[in-house]
Amino acid sequence: MEIQELVYYLAVPRDVVVVSHRNPDGDAVGSTLAIGRLLRKAGHTVHMILPSEFPPFFNWMPDIDRVWIYDIRTEESVKVLQEADLIWMLDFNSLDRIDKLGEEIHHREDARTVLIDHHLDPEPIADLMYTEVAASSTSELVFDFIRDAGWINQIDHEIAISLMTGILTDTGSFKYNTRPELFHKVAELLSFGIDLNDLQIKIFNTLPVKFLRLLGYCLHKRMEILEDYHTGIISLSKEDFVKFDIQRGDTEGIVNYLLMIQQIKFAILITEQPTIIKLSFRSKGDFSVQQFARDNFKGGGHKNASGGATYGTLSKTVKKVKSLLPLYENSLKSA
Ligand code: 5GP
Ligand code: MN
Repeated sequence: MEIQELVYYLAVPRDVVVVSHRNPDGDAVGSTLAIGRLLRKAGHTVHMILPSEFPPFFNWMPDIDRVWIYDIRTEESVKVLQEADLIWMLDFNSLDRIDKLGEEIHHREDARTVLIDHHLDPEPIADLMYTEVAASSTSELVFDFIRDAGWINQIDHEIAISLMTGILTDTGSFKYNTRPELFHKVAELLSFGIDLNDLQIKIFNTLPVKFLRLLGYCLHKRMEILEDYHTGIISLSKEDFVKFDIQRGDTEGIVNYLLMIQQIKFAILITEQPTIIKLSFRSKGDFSVQQFARDNFKGGGHKNASGGATYGTLSKTVKKVKSLLPLYENSLKSA
């Protein structure tokens, strides 16, 4: 399907479901709210569904109270997915990234589907695939899509704020994945009367005290530096999660601190979840954590930010990671 066919298809009111990925971040939430609002304003019936809960610091976002969490409103979510004319997927590259929600979508071969995403290796899961790995964020691509569809006049202050949130979170406030054209788009979005400083405070300066205590603990007690491999590892056990009263989303951002060390090129956060061990990988420069995640932990993502998972114990996983490093010694040295 081409964009113009979709525009034509949307000339009459449709039932649309907009979905994004599990453990939604600012890009997932922002792109979902932007597309959801745009389509609702155009007269469509829109349901926005996220597989699991978003962090509470997104509670201020426009229309966030309209979002359903699949884990909580499962039956209603299944029903609207079964009835949808159009399913709009954002910020993920394969249906298994959204678990059961992905199975529901898989069963809907008769529905039209759109995917907007910036992850590496997108699977052909939609009739209209709008993907670009060089984009900073899915939110940036949503802006491009809106422009290409001829809907630019439909952007309002709330849509602009949602897209800016996605761009800010995925670029770490314009640190990663920026291209010159991003700043032209950002300039257009800011012209909707957005106070950038206020927005950054809302997104980044809202941490609970326990996060800083946890961060201190991670850096003081749980950080291992493997100088020969330019690698840093932080691992957290189930007991740590209990002790600091944290949930999975609360560890967001911790892995990036390792990259602040001059000689570190590869940063790894390993956390023990109820049923799996989750790994977060980040890198500076040319070392591809996407390849590392894909080759060893059935994971993926982006060149400098990826993730994966494994079963087994925390200590075995840490050992496995360490035993893999010599295989990557050369690429780590030259990166
Ligand atoms: P995070 O480390 O913040 O969980 O994820 C970093 C990036 O890697 C995100 O873009 C995310 O989509 C991707 N990612 C995280 N975990 C997995 C995984 O298990 N499989 C795949 N394919 N991608 C992942
Ligand atoms: Mn993203």
